[in-house]
Amino acid sequence: MMIILMGAPGVGKGTQAKVLCAKLKLRHISTGESLRQAIKENTSLGSQVRQYVESGRLVPDQLITRMVIERLSRNDLKSGCILDGFPRNTQQARDLDKFLSAKITSAYMVIYLDASEKTLIQRLSGRRLCKKCQAVFHLVNMPPKKDMRCDFCGAELYQRPDDKEETIKNRLRIYQEQTAPVIDYYAKQNRLLHIDANRELKPVLKECLKLLKGRGNHIRLPKSDLSPARAGSGSRKICLKFCPLPPNGGVPPTAAKGIFFLKERDDFYKVRL
Ligand SMILES: [Zn+2]
Repeated sequence: MMIILMGAPGVGKGTQAKVLCAKLKLRHISTGESLRQAIKENTSLGSQVRQYVESGRLVPDQLITRMVIERLSRNDLKSGCILDGFPRNTQQARDLDKFLSAKITSAYMVIYLDASEKTLIQRLSGRRLCKKCQAVFHLVNMPPKKDMRCDFCGAELYQRPDDKEETIKNRLRIYQEQTAPVIDYYAKQNRLLHIDANRELKPVLKECLKLLKGRGNHIRLPKSDLSPARAGSGSRKICLKFCPLPPNGGVPPTAAKGIFFLKERDDFYKVRL
């Protein structure tokens, strides 16, 4: 199972991804982490990425897509993963679908953590970092014990220039322009789980888990959806380790070398039993 986690800066995506991964035993794939790893391993992609990072230029979208796809192709993701920070625009979403449609790896769904601009600004502008150990604090949600000093090492706290209100507004505007169309893209595919992330971390996490369990990665197939070869045994529970095909009204459940098509709501899935 793959889950794509989407949401604006400050919505708590990274934290939710970490906890969800631990609870659901999934791997956490964040774009930032993948960039750092590629550079460290000095792969051919990694050395290209390094040139951009070292000269302080933005890594081009296409390079990021190639890197994420390379990461998803490794065989340590059998139990599934959470993708965090990707895709950022509809081109990347399309490229990802193109890659997935050629594989029978896993179904995926998209969790959209949605919070108001007011909430996001309040969260980001309250963030303070330790100058020495980089520990993160928050003036409202996680204030330091001693006035503006790090709880762990006692060093002074500071605000990242990125977290000043004018800069935040700009970051949110860029996010809206680039990423809001991706939300639409997934909504049209019927994959979007919409979650109100104006609340605290815990209730948001609880709802994520509830929604994911509701969809589940197991379904019970009715007899009519099974290939003729299996239909004799009645309904059975199968693991949804497959890749959704684009909706196609004309495709009947078809058996072919253990692969058949399954219709769930309005989507067709290619299934291997
Ligand atoms: Zn510190």
